[in-house]
Amino acid sequence: MKPKVAFFDFASCEGCQLAVLNCEDILLDLLALVDIVEFREAITGTAPYYDVAFIEGSINREQDAERLRDIRARSAVLVAMGACACIGNVQARSNFIAPAENFKRVYGSEERNQVQSDPEFWPLWAHTRVRAVREVVKVDYELRGCPLVPEEFVHLVKSLVAGTIPRFAAHAVCVECKMHENTCVFDRGDTCMGQITRGGCQAICITNGYRCDGCRGLVPNANMAAHLGLLQSKGLDNREIANRYRLFCSAEPLGRVGRSGHE
Ligand code: SF4
Ligand code: SF4
Ligand code: SF4
Repeated sequence: MKPKVAFFDFASCEGCQLAVLNCEDILLDLLALVDIVEFREAITGTAPYYDVAFIEGSINREQDAERLRDIRARSAVLVAMGACACIGNVQARSNFIAPAENFKRVYGSEERNQVQSDPEFWPLWAHTRVRAVREVVKVDYELRGCPLVPEEFVHLVKSLVAGTIPRFAAHAVCVECKMHENTCVFDRGDTCMGQITRGGCQAICITNGYRCDGCRGLVPNANMAAHLGLLQSKGLDNREIANRYRLFCSAEPLGRVGRSGHE
């Protein structure tokens, strides 16, 4: 019997599911190892039980949390897939703004008046707080990043099928950045989240000329005080620092740093 695997999406762009489908060179080999029983992006089937459930997206409404709990109850292993599921991602920035203000910013005052009576929009008013998957149910493994790293996905599936323990990077992005012999962006006059961000992405953004914005969330034991002091020493004010920390990580403790700097 091949393990039954399912994919579910919540609040997300579905980019992580596409990243899985884009593993073209190895997808057929993986399909020989597992039986995909639910995957809205690719098939129409459903199943009552899953050996492995992959969850994409953040949890925004109570009905999402209920659906997630139901999936958890029917899954032997549950994997949070991508930054939305692991750390809340950009949508969790709305946690720092009142729902009514959020609505106004997205739809404007006029539209707000028009749609307020439309039941289709009522779930938006019911939105309370964007949560990472692990804030709602027990998570067995996390595939971090926006989007996830395909090599980590393949490694996890192979490990689960083989019955071995998957290993993921527990070091900071800086380690991989140095291995790629990049010039540090601080030396270019910019700032970077690499010191406090969990590696595993091969510092791809810096290697391609940008900086790390922290999409993989906090590295274990991140020295937040030192990083905060570093950003301050580079001239960033409270608002800029809060925006940097909250870009991906508003559902992590990181997002709560610099709370005095409002949006
Ligand atoms: S982590 Fe990024 S790529 Fe994946 S679903 Fe969320 S927004 Fe899309
Ligand atoms: S560019 Fe960023 S990730 Fe690379 S060494 Fe500098 S701080 Fe670390
Ligand atoms: S370098 Fe930073 S922002 Fe880029 S993928 Fe890695 S963790 Fe994410």
